[in-house]
Amino acid sequence: MAKVSIGLRGWRFDEDEVFDEEGNVRPLVEMDDDTVYRLVRLSAILGEPCDACWLQEDDVEDCNAAAIVYGEPLSEVVLCERHEADFLYWFREEGGSEYAGSDELQDAFHEWFVSGNRAPEGYAGLDHVEENPSDLPEPPTEPEQCGLDEVDEQVDEMSEAEREAMDLDTDVFDV
Ligand SMILES: [Zn+2]
Repeated sequence: MAKVSIGLRGWRFDEDEVFDEEGNVRPLVEMDDDTVYRLVRLSAILGEPCDACWLQEDDVEDCNAAAIVYGEPLSEVVLCERHEADFLYWFREEGGSEYAGSDELQDAFHEWFVSGNRAPEGYAGLDHVEENPSDLPEPPTEPEQCGLDEVDEQVDEMSEAEREAMDLDTDVFDV
């Protein structure tokens, strides 16, 4: 089954689960809860600034927009192209991988970054991902630029009861 990223690189979805034959987003109620959870979270963080930029800049205007997302919803790390290498270096070389799948991933990376740590000059993060794909973030593919508006619309149209039935934690909407 083909995997696609939507909006940001990083999180990947089964194309057949999310989109129908015409490329339209399927009804959320037909998807796995985890898929819905990630899609809804993704629509909330799309357009947000890169975490690493934001930790360095006072003004959101000076931050790059996030291009990639790693980690689990609500403890995800979003990064611009420039800072992705720092994250991957931390993950591979500085013990970050022990936080894989953990809700402490974001805090742990932020702490490391705020302490002044960076990837060495020229660290080729993406090559390292390819070497050991099993426990690392997925290699990049160009994200689909469609779909999240439809997710938003579906969520808006849902009643409170429907959201509860899907166990959609409303925290996923917060950024
Ligand atoms: Zn950045």
